[in-house]
Amino acid sequence: MTIDKKLVNLASNLTGMSEEAAHEILRDVKANHKLLDECVGPHDFQRVDGTMPMKFRCSKCGGTVSASLAMWYKKGLQHGRVLA
Ligand SMILES: [Zn+2]
Repeated sequence: MTIDKKLVNLASNLTGMSEEAAHEILRDVKANHKLLDECVGPHDFQRVDGTMPMKFRCSKCGGTVSASLAMWYKKGLQHGRVLA
């Protein structure tokens, strides 16, 4: 069994959602990671209106992250400038 199939199975068993729904979520997550990985960078995360929990989208690649990840990414850029 592939790791994807195991994840879909696990998500389905834990939440009660259909395997098809779990598989669609996994596809969305992988597509988002691909956008983020291929971004020309640095990411420019902007808050997405009306999302709860808050979500941030990069204006360059369209990838999305949580508020916590966006905050730490921004902090990392600030610290990186200090070290440069
Ligand atoms: Zn980006």
